[in-house]
Amino acid sequence: MFDEREADSGRNEPSSGQHGHSSHEQESSFSEDIERELSALKKQGRHRFLRRVSGAQDAEIVIEGRKLFNFSSNNYLGLSSHPEVVEAFQKYACLYGVGAGASRLIGGNMDIHAELEDAFARFKGSEAALVFSSGYLANIGILNVLGSPAATIFSDELNHASIIDGCRMAQAGVTVYRHADMNHLEGLLKASSARRKLIVTDGVFSMKGDIAPLPELVALKKLYGALLIVDDAHATGVLPPRGRGSADYFGLSGEIDIDMGTFSKALGTYGAYICAARPIIDYFINKCRTFIYNTALPPAVAGATLKSIELLSGRPELLSRLWTNQEIFRREMERRGRRVHSKTPIFQVPVGSDRQTMDVSRKLYAKGLFIHGIRPPTVPEGEGQLRVSLMATHTTAMVVKAAGGIDEALQEEGVERY
Ligand SMILES: *Cc1c(COP(=O)(O)O)cnc(C)c1O
Repeated sequence: MFDEREADSGRNEPSSGQHGHSSHEQESSFSEDIERELSALKKQGRHRFLRRVSGAQDAEIVIEGRKLFNFSSNNYLGLSSHPEVVEAFQKYACLYGVGAGASRLIGGNMDIHAELEDAFARFKGSEAALVFSSGYLANIGILNVLGSPAATIFSDELNHASIIDGCRMAQAGVTVYRHADMNHLEGLLKASSARRKLIVTDGVFSMKGDIAPLPELVALKKLYGALLIVDDAHATGVLPPRGRGSADYFGLSGEIDIDMGTFSKALGTYGAYICAARPIIDYFINKCRTFIYNTALPPAVAGATLKSIELLSGRPELLSRLWTNQEIFRREMERRGRRVHSKTPIFQVPVGSDRQTMDVSRKLYAKGLFIHGIRPPTVPEGEGQLRVSLMATHTTAMVVKAAGGIDEALQEEGVERY
């Protein structure tokens, strides 16, 4: 179990014997415990393993020597291997070296970090931006900085794991509201006497692919004096009309207090950002442990990301091709009697049990389609699913083949049309 006392102390204080050598007896029971847990996972069909990819994360991918069409990537616009992005990466690696060498506050704050933050703030229409090394770190940091003991966090039940972990690590109270259920959220807000209320949600939900009801969230946050935190990891570079994320999509720019997202998905690089009013950014620079005690983003990654934003703004055809593929896939699924609900390039295709989910995924693999099965605990029990994500770089033929392959594999597995 999680030890509260350990979590409360900011430092890792030594206590007697903690780092001492364990006896041989303890070691053997430790390894037995691990083996038992691993074999239980295997029995449940829940054992995870790593597959090796040779080469780039493109529409076609080489896995263990096999060429497959890739429908499991978050590289929505194909920017991770775009020649201009790769060229920018090389240029900035030559200029600044590979590693940043220190945290931002100690000497790792390079021109390119500041340029990226300025460009991102402009891109998002916010006053200021702050770059983090990853989305995971950003979410942990945000919820820790704002989640003081006087606060309550209101979190959507389908939020990303990094938000869930951020809630667990914050000192605030945490209340989980039913997915996108604004009546439930309002009831909880109304009943809360917390001095600070924080509403946190994915902008586009990473598994289901649905869009958070931002207009309602903004109305509620105003009515109840809450702060609104939106994780746009799957919205930035994805949502129309300009790929600038949830607020822009709904015409609500400036209404999100902490507009957070990652560079690792549609922008094709790595790292994360928060966009907010300047005093909030200043506060984070002073208070946020995952920013302060973490080495700065590698400068070449920052340079490549800057290029990605430039391409996103300058080449609208990237985004329009992604959405054309979205429409083709939806149409092809519906034509086969498989209704899909998503309004984004992420599609959740329900399968069923863990076993069925993995069987369908394996069948697709055999057909040359790389489409991941998603099992609990990422999704609820008995709701195993395929997660299909489309890319701008998929051809029409690839998208049609995916829909056909999924329908066939589901039929073979006895999953009825719906
Ligand atoms: C991927 C993802 C993250 C984590 O971002 P990393 O940069 O990969 O650490 C956070 N939130 C959401 C919604 C994500 O999809």
